[in-house]
Amino acid sequence: MKYVSTRGKSPKVGFCQAVANGLAPDGGLYLPEILPQISTSTLKSWEGLTYPELTSEFFSLFATDIEKDRLDAICARSYTKFEHKDIAPLVPLRNRLFVLELFHGPTLAFKDFALQLLGNLYQEQIEKTGKPITVLGATSGDTGAAAIHGLLGKEGVNIFILYPNGRVSPLQERQMTCTGASNVYPLAIEGSFDDAQKALKETFEDLDFKKEVGLSAVNSINLARILAQSVYYLYAYLQLKEAQRRNLTFVVPTGNFGNVFAGWLLRRMGVNIGDFQVATNQNDILYRFFEEGIYESGTVKPSLAPSMDIQVASNFERLLYYILDEDPEKVTEAMQSIKSEGRFDIPDNQIVSNFSASRTSDYEIPSIIDGVYSQFKYIVDPHTACGFKRTGTKGVNIILSTAHPAKFPDTIEKAIGVHAKSDSLEALKNKKIVKTSITATTESIQSYIRQKI
Ligand SMILES: *Cc1c(COP(=O)(O)O)cnc(C)c1O
Repeated sequence: MKYVSTRGKSPKVGFCQAVANGLAPDGGLYLPEILPQISTSTLKSWEGLTYPELTSEFFSLFATDIEKDRLDAICARSYTKFEHKDIAPLVPLRNRLFVLELFHGPTLAFKDFALQLLGNLYQEQIEKTGKPITVLGATSGDTGAAAIHGLLGKEGVNIFILYPNGRVSPLQERQMTCTGASNVYPLAIEGSFDDAQKALKETFEDLDFKKEVGLSAVNSINLARILAQSVYYLYAYLQLKEAQRRNLTFVVPTGNFGNVFAGWLLRRMGVNIGDFQVATNQNDILYRFFEEGIYESGTVKPSLAPSMDIQVASNFERLLYYILDEDPEKVTEAMQSIKSEGRFDIPDNQIVSNFSASRTSDYEIPSIIDGVYSQFKYIVDPHTACGFKRTGTKGVNIILSTAHPAKFPDTIEKAIGVHAKSDSLEALKNKKIVKTSITATTESIQSYIRQKI
């Protein structure tokens, strides 16, 4: 199986190389040259598999350059730090309404599903090539914590995460800085997330440095992250009865479009899922796209669901590739139009089916949390709350719960007067914070990295 870039100007590569590269050299995103199909009989044979077993079966369709027994071992190792025996429990709230809880991993958000696995894939790559890797990322909170917990203690990997000092939640900062791991370097910068992002980008543009230290990124455009996320959709689907599967909608709190794209990809692979509801917060670029066919970025308005505060949905390019007939030239044109005019209009004859969209304002989030609590005695975090504003109630709805409510205690407390708690977050409060302050310039980042590796 080979992987191509959405922009068509990069050499085809194997799975491991696509994962190691992250972004394709032409600036595009990797997708399989031919998308594998999953037959009904294959699906049937996957019923009853454990979560890691299912992950390995699914990845074996893509990772054809990793031997199956190694893949089995990688997947088995990747879900040992989850606190629930089902890994991704499907919780019924009432007849035909389910929540898929994706917050039982080490950092209590769904990003652990991909980053725990990615850490082990990196390790596989290091064993193969003998070359150490330096991971550098910038975060506004959740991704950095999940990346750190995916890579901590891994031999041959050092991880450096830039974050805006004082602008991530205290709990998120503790998740990054209280690990005690010697290969983890949280770097607090003065400034905003955008400043961190800018310094990161410039550091990656220095190709000599990149080569010197084996620099790699863990951002949400990595193909392995998408595929790891497809698995929980499949896992939930396989638990439903035939009749429930027939009229199924997944409702997905959405920011960068990675999570919902992972589900939609399964549909494209032949799994009979009805629809996907893209649930945004007040940063509604994707809502406007699916309602009006116009993709136009504005300015980010900080919200109560901060991990969905985005202006540009980086994984959207992958959907564009499929809706523009897998034509890299059309994708390149669309991306250029987004870059230069801040806007892209979907051609009139193009239909984007199987998606609906909703947007939830900050005004609505607390009242949804309150409503869900009084109706079901169930506490949802502010991101998941956006998924409870549904566009339709026909058929079976599965709402993806992307974070544990205890990550956002203030919003929950204000909404329902309950203090949401998690043992692992409580335990963090007694640990020592270890972080370094650094100026957000390429020079200081480079010299810090050189000194540590
Ligand atoms: C990252 C994140 C999202 C958004 O996911 P995308 O893949 O960017 O659409 C939603 N909720 C939480 C809690 C997150 O951490």
